[in-house]
Amino acid sequence: MSEGVSVFRRLLPLRFLSTGAPSSSSAARGPRLDPGPLSFEDPGAFRVKSTKELLRALAVFRFCSVPLLVNNCDKLLSVARGVLGRRGLSLLLRPFVYAQFVAGETEGEISRSMTKMADLGLRPMLAVPLEEDLGESTGEQRYEENMASMLECVRLSHSNAWTTDPMMQLKITALLSPELCVKLTALLKHQTSVDLEVLLRGLNGEPIRFPGLDERENAHLLCGLKRLNTIAEASVHKVRVLVDAEYTYMNPALSLVTMAMMKKFNQGGVWIWNTYQCYLKESRGFLQEALDVSSREGFSVGVKLVRGAYMDKERRQAEKEDRPDPVHDSWENTNHSYNGNMELLMDLISQDPQRYRVIIATHNEESVRQELGVDKEGGSVCFGQLLGMCDHVSLTLAEQGYAVYKSVPYGSVEDTMPYLVRRAQENRTVLQGIRKERDLLRLELHRRMRLGRGGR
Ligand SMILES: Cc1cc2nc3c(=O)[nH]c(=O)nc-3n(C[C@H](O)[C@H](O)[C@H](O)COP(=O)(O)OP(=O)(O)OC[C@H]3O[C@@H](n4cnc5c(N)ncnc54)[C@H](O)[C@@H]3O)c2cc1C
Repeated sequence: MSEGVSVFRRLLPLRFLSTGAPSSSSAARGPRLDPGPLSFEDPGAFRVKSTKELLRALAVFRFCSVPLLVNNCDKLLSVARGVLGRRGLSLLLRPFVYAQFVAGETEGEISRSMTKMADLGLRPMLAVPLEEDLGESTGEQRYEENMASMLECVRLSHSNAWTTDPMMQLKITALLSPELCVKLTALLKHQTSVDLEVLLRGLNGEPIRFPGLDERENAHLLCGLKRLNTIAEASVHKVRVLVDAEYTYMNPALSLVTMAMMKKFNQGGVWIWNTYQCYLKESRGFLQEALDVSSREGFSVGVKLVRGAYMDKERRQAEKEDRPDPVHDSWENTNHSYNGNMELLMDLISQDPQRYRVIIATHNEESVRQELGVDKEGGSVCFGQLLGMCDHVSLTLAEQGYAVYKSVPYGSVEDTMPYLVRRAQENRTVLQGIRKERDLLRLELHRRMRLGRGGR
């Protein structure tokens, strides 16, 4: 372990590294405490990084700030793949964006990355970045293989001592075709109330007939539900499964399936969570609807609250189809929506902390700062950032004793490519966070140069 790591560890009181298991006596927020100022200005957070890591992060963020490169990422990658071949492209990306945003491919690489994170008081939240969009459907065999990868993710998440309250992310479109999700979403538009019964029967492996789907589609839906059920059964009481939100043209279907899973598995605890994207004008309505269904059907709810990662594509798609933009008109409106939804959840948590949980999944300092008064050991509220992004926020929060998860994707360069492209594009839109991170990285580099020890 580097000198920097051990110094940082000494600063972390042991209780800060403890589990986020709910304490029955304390409400999540309790009386709001004054957390005092937390500035996220301290470049010391980066002392734990090697000089190579600092330089790599600066180079990646520099690359991400060139719109011409980022906007044409997809094209550049396919040209590079054509010229260099898969192996050549992999060799090119591995030490660069891949190393910045992905934990590795083999269990050994992932394990090293996780151990380092745990040493810093951060909790890894593993993610298998397998996903499909329309026109990319790969067939039943591939979905079965994806299920095996997810089960491996469950095993990796709970069989190691990285954290005592593990979480993992799951993308439904890795197990169920996007085409079917789009069709289900279209069918749901004509329904006035949510009926979870058909999906519950599917999760239990019984034959189903979802109104509006043909025989082949019903058969595929049943296979998908069985796969999801297998993963949920493997993870319940061990690993909390956070279902990702994807595109608006399939999210209602993903939410319906997730709610059915919540109804089945969230009776004695919050094991299945859903994600709400606050950049959507309708996010408050979606969240409120889920909360209403959960009250009516009597299950607990876990929420991953995000701003949303697909803004460019959502807007392009809306324009192409000549329909209103589903995304808020400005970043400020998205912020307002995020903070409003967070308030709603915090009020519910303060009333019933066993029934509701939230992960404030953002790099935005203002959003984070608003909730610094939460009960750190209550377990109902935690924070989340992505691997390779805004470590100054994650490390400062962890140092102050908050439960902080880092979303940690892993897999081959080929499998993580869509994820990497999204991260590159997002770093163009993640506004002050990355700018501040770049400044702090530079400050730390200058400090080392002044000390005359360029490398460690
Ligand atoms: C743990 C974790 C899990 C995640 N899971 C998901 C997921 O399941 N699904 C998903 O979609 N995303 C997910 N994300 C990504 C997330 O949605 C954001 O893209 C990312 O975190 C950046 O938002 P921010 O709040 O951190 O940053 P900020 O810098 O505060 O805001 C940037 C975000 O604001 C929005 N925005 C920017 N400009 C505008 C504008 N002009 N008008 C309207 N809105 C604007 C966009 O959403 C943009 O990503 C996850 C993030 C984390 C940390």
